[in-house]
Amino acid sequence: MLKTLRTVVLAGLVSLSPLAAGAASAKKLNVVASFSIIADFARHVGGDRIDLRSLVGANGDAHVYEPKPADVRTIAAADIVLVNGLQFEGFLRRLIEASGTKAPVVELTKGVQPLKSTEQAHHHGQSGPHHHHGDHDPHAWQAVPNARIYVKNIVDAFCSIDPPGCTTYETNAKAYDSTLSALDDEIRATIALIPPHKRVVITAHEAFGYFAHEYGLTFLAPEGLSTDAEAAASDIASLIRQIKRDKVAAVFVENITDPRLVQRIAAETGSKVGGELYSDALSRPDGPAATYVDMMKHNASTIRKAIVPDVP
Ligand SMILES: [Zn+2]
Repeated sequence: MLKTLRTVVLAGLVSLSPLAAGAASAKKLNVVASFSIIADFARHVGGDRIDLRSLVGANGDAHVYEPKPADVRTIAAADIVLVNGLQFEGFLRRLIEASGTKAPVVELTKGVQPLKSTEQAHHHGQSGPHHHHGDHDPHAWQAVPNARIYVKNIVDAFCSIDPPGCTTYETNAKAYDSTLSALDDEIRATIALIPPHKRVVITAHEAFGYFAHEYGLTFLAPEGLSTDAEAAASDIASLIRQIKRDKVAAVFVENITDPRLVQRIAAETGSKVGGELYSDALSRPDGPAATYVDMMKHNASTIRKAIVPDVP
């Protein structure tokens, strides 16, 4: 179908017939997102004006993703590439270079107030080929006010590359932004049910810094900011001491990381595994975090239920 449209567009351009404009607007914008959460934002803004692909899919880990040959072709064919930035997608630069794409690559964290990485404190400045993340925590989407900035950046990017669709993108984004605003309120209300001194939880990797900062919790994690960093035995031992001392209410596994480390910590400290949190990827469509909104609601309510199960 797309091929047919392209042919029509070319024919129209050559003849400069009035048909050209109509056919051109029928061609969908070819959008590539680096991972599933950004793809969900793009889908809400772009609606049926875009063809959308995500490089890293449901339950996929963008920290350690190995691009496939098909990804090179996907990027080469893109009209626009949407990425997180803050050095989240370690695989991206090579992929962009290999594809030779001329498409704009838009970093959606532009305008976000980035949180400083605390990783140095945990890993004492180890550096090597597997430690290529930056000075800032890249997981900015974990605070809803930041997600609203991502969406604003997507609107600006789509409008600049497809001006005829701008009104549609702005209308779509306005509706979605209302949903995000309500989501933000709902998360605050959910977390408010947890007494402040009980808001300490354990996850595998440090993906929830923005959530913690925005909604007033403390997350402790043995693995650091990126899933490609192995937790040091000494870090795990000190975390276990801290959990026992502070009586941490619950530990959580993540959809993108191996659950065994967290399960071991739970067993050694007598704390319970409170469920699965979605950090860096959505679930599959039939899972509890098929969209960003569902993911954020699921995470907040899973934490709340684990710590204060009696509160409805
Ligand atoms: Zn992460």
